[in-house]
Amino acid sequence: MHTLPELTYSYDALEPYIDQQTMELHHTKHHQTYIDKLNGALENYPDLQDNTAEVLISNLDEIPEDIRTAVRNHGGGHVNHSFFWPLLKKDTHPGGAFAQAVQKSFGGFDAFREQFSSAATLLFGSGWTWVVASSSGLEIVTTANQDNPISQRKIPVLGLDVWEHAYYLKYQNRRPEYIAAFFEVINWEIVDANYEKALSS
Ligand code: MN
Repeated sequence: MHTLPELTYSYDALEPYIDQQTMELHHTKHHQTYIDKLNGALENYPDLQDNTAEVLISNLDEIPEDIRTAVRNHGGGHVNHSFFWPLLKKDTHPGGAFAQAVQKSFGGFDAFREQFSSAATLLFGSGWTWVVASSSGLEIVTTANQDNPISQRKIPVLGLDVWEHAYYLKYQNRRPEYIAAFFEVINWEIVDANYEKALSS
């Protein structure tokens, strides 16, 4: 059975950029619901229950048709949020191999931030904006709903939840303000570690 990962920081740790109430609801209600529904979908498929959620959504073609959409949505929701929480921390700075890759792929951090923010702002409806890594460099991609780039064999190193539930309490319809706030709480040490891991996989 899949379970809710604990946060390594308190719900108010990202104030004032991401508020305590949003963090608590997002983690204990939204993320928990994806887990509950994933577990429910797998109930009649004991053979699939030992797989990680990453493995399940990496091989959706092999998931029985009657639960494929549920695994895609709720397995994806579980993977995405488990990936998202460690990406958040105040007062870290881009560095390491990731910062070099940003320079190479985008020509500089400002251009990278601009392109990422624009993609996140323009994404219609609910979804995620990602930075994915390959040997040829970094790329910004978006996915709808709870889809994750690993279903397309792309390795995410950074991701932003742009579902309204991630920002509505504090920012209402002002998604660009939420995206700007996100850049104040990106844990660049984790991003760099994700990038190093992606390169060696
Ligand atoms: Mn979310």
